Order: sequence, then structure tokens, then C-alpha cells
Amino acid sequence: MTHERTREIYDRALSVLPGGVNSAVRAAPQPYPLFARKGDGGHVVDADGNRYVDWIQGLGPLLYGHDLPEPVTAAVQKRVAEGPVFGMPTELEVEHAEFVTRHVPSVEMIRFVNSGTEATVSAVRLARAVTERNKVVVMQGGYHGAQESTLVEGDADHPKPSTHGIPQSFAKHTLPVPFNDAEAAKDVFEEHGDDIAGVLVEPVQANSGIAYPVDGYHETLADLCEEYGSLLVWDEVITGFRVGGLGCAQSKFDIDPDVTTFGKIIGGGFPVGAIGGKTEYVEQFTPSGDVFQAGTFSGHPAAMAAGLEGLKYAAEHDVYDHVNDLGRRLREGLSEIVAERAPEYTVVGTDSIFKVAFTRADAPPQDDCCANGCRQDPECARFGACPKRGTDAARMETDRYARLFRPAMRDDGVLVSQNQYEANFVSYAHTEEDVERTLDAYREHL
Ligand code: PMP
Repeated sequence: MTHERTREIYDRALSVLPGGVNSAVRAAPQPYPLFARKGDGGHVVDADGNRYVDWIQGLGPLLYGHDLPEPVTAAVQKRVAEGPVFGMPTELEVEHAEFVTRHVPSVEMIRFVNSGTEATVSAVRLARAVTERNKVVVMQGGYHGAQESTLVEGDADHPKPSTHGIPQSFAKHTLPVPFNDAEAAKDVFEEHGDDIAGVLVEPVQANSGIAYPVDGYHETLADLCEEYGSLLVWDEVITGFRVGGLGCAQSKFDIDPDVTTFGKIIGGGFPVGAIGGKTEYVEQFTPSGDVFQAGTFSGHPAAMAAGLEGLKYAAEHDVYDHVNDLGRRLREGLSEIVAERAPEYTVVGTDSIFKVAFTRADAPPQDDCCANGCRQDPECARFGACPKRGTDAARMETDRYARLFRPAMRDDGVLVSQNQYEANFVSYAHTEEDVERTLDAYREHL
């Protein structure tokens, strides 16, 4: 397999795009990332014409792989032919909102935006406005997009910006706590409860090697928010319409958030985000309320058509059965391979997401860690020192994954996530053959 053309494009890219890319994660692995030429079902073809089984799937939005179902393609093409954008509302936005509110129990009203980042920016503003408070609680190692209120690390006593360009005076309003640690959540509320506008949490931490919630953790957060009058904001940008099917992760875990942020799948592969939730909150956005929110491209017809038709298709076909079944087979197959080849590593994931966490053998197992103990899910394929917190990803052999494992898998025709933090995604286009091929490659390269 050669990558001559890819390397040539990357050289050009480095002169005109920072790091050669338009989103940081895409530059992996080094010394050069692949450039995509086209997709084909569950596969992607690079600029040199090499074909790979693709588990990146656009980083999550592609529930159908690279070939959209015929009604989705037809709806998008029709919209594009009828004019790209209007600066006026369309019926399509109403229909999409009706679909989401019908299927996601906590969502009564929704505002569409253009990215997951935009959604969490507006959700934080909404929580601050509704509560007239400043602080937001986030999870260490969580990700809510490239925004000022959440790119914060450290702990609740010492929050600090996780990137240059954010003033410390902003970061002090963000309180990072460890995911899955109920006591830490109670402590932060005891100390700051009167000034906590909301808690922003991913149902499953999917940006840090995949950490699954321990029993009762989300209930604790919900109870604390209720008790202190803070908003519980679930970030379902990744899990929405993937984990828990059409009811999203909140149906799977039976939690009723005040506000939910969406992205990825609700736009069917086109730029999208959304803030949904109880009418009393979401209605506070302008113009019905006085929390400013706006966007030239918000509710973009192509994204609305792709998202809505994609979700309608999922409602009428065995889409979730298929992707969850292949996800389970991958996790089971990987568990066997890992047990045999790399017993210190861990298989994580749920529904249609999966990952092998390169947890180091010398990492101390956590107190409450045992096979299946952390989740009551019969599907559980974890064992060993499975990640429970976003910060556990720091214990993983991130460098070995990036430098050795991923390039070796790639050269064998299998694309897994760009780094140890991101999840792998199964699509409706993936086949049993893709699963077998992938398991063979893991067997070889682990
Ligand atoms: N929230 C979560 C949970 C995410 O995973 C992401 C992106 N992967 C975002 C927010 C930001 O979404 P976007 O990249 O569309 O801005």
C-alpha cells in the first residue's frame, strides 16, 4: 500500500492549513494523516485509491456509513436543488423538531444550530440565564466542543484553561469533577451549590477511551441538580440517536435531563447541533425569551433533510438492531483476542461504539473494578482496569497506540479511531465480513 499522493497533498496542506487540517484530531497519525477521496458503504478510499474498513465514520454522524439510504439522498438532493438557505424558516425544521420531541422523552422543544460546540455554548448560556448563576460543573476528561466554558482542566478547587487563549477569569467559573465519583459531585455542590447554573455531562464519556457510568451515578447528578436548583444538561452529541436508539441514552439510563445537546446523527452527516429540553427552559432563547441565540445557517435545509430522513429510516428499519449486533460481536471478539494477546488491555463500549483501551499492565486496578461489576449490562465486554473516569485515559499507552498500532492497522486496511481517546463507530453499512476482517487485524497487531 502506497501513500504517495496522500503525502503530496499533506505537504501542500501544511502550507495553507494550520497543521494541514481543519480539525485537530484529523492530523493523526503522524507522520502523515490519510486524505479521504470517497466513501463506499462501511469503507473509505484514500487519495491514493487504497480501501479501508472505516470505523471512524466521520467521528460519529454516519449511522448509515458513506452511502445514505435512497430516501435520504433524494431528500437532500431535492433540498439543494430548491435553494441552499433562506434566512426564513422552513417546514422541514418543524418536522425535524416534531420527530425529536416525539422520540426523546425529555425534549419538548428544540433549537437547531450548526455544531455540537454551538449547542453546548448555547446550553451553558441558557443554564446561566435561567438560574442567574455563573458556575458550570463539567467532568474531567469530558469533551463538549471547542468552547471557552468547557475547555477547562484541573479540579473544582483549581480549574485552569486547558488551552492557550482562555482567560483564567473565565476558567474559574468551570468546576471539573471526576466522572463516576458521586462523593466528588456532592462535595462540589456543598461548596458551590448556590452558584452552580448546571452540570454538563456526557451519558457515556465517549471522548476519553469510553467510560461507562457506574450504577446510580447519573441519578446522583440528577438529584443534586434538583436539590440545588441547577440544570442537568446531558451532552448527547455522540450518544444521541446512537446509544439507546431513537430514545437516546436518556431512555437507556432512564434519566430526565432538563436540557440535552445534540449533534452528529441528527444532521445525517451534515453540519448540525441542537439544544433540546423542557419548554420552560428552551423557550428562554430569543425571540420567545431573552437569552440571545441565532445563526445564519441554523436549521440548514440540507442538514435538516439528511437528519430527519435518516431518523425516519431508522424508525422503520432494523438499523439499531444491526449496528448494536455488530457492536456486540466486535466487543465479544475483541475481548477474546485481548484476553489472549494483551490481557492488560480492556475492551470498552456499548451499543454501536467500541474501543480497545490500552490500559497499562502496571496501572493499579481501581477499587471497585471487576468484570461486569461496573455495569449491570448483560452485554458488558469489559474486564481488567476499565476506564471509569475521563482522566483514566492518561493511564493508557496513548503513544503506542498512535505510533505503532494505528498505522499497522491502517496498513492492513482497517481504520480505527485516530487516537486512544476517540470511539469507534459501527454503521448500518458495515457487514459481518468487515467485523471478521477487523478482528483478524486486531489479532495480528495486538
Ligand atoms: N460534545 C460531545 C460529547 C462531542 O463528542 C463533541 C464532538 N465530538 C462535541 C460536543 C462538539 O461537537 P462539534 O465537533 O460538532 O462541534
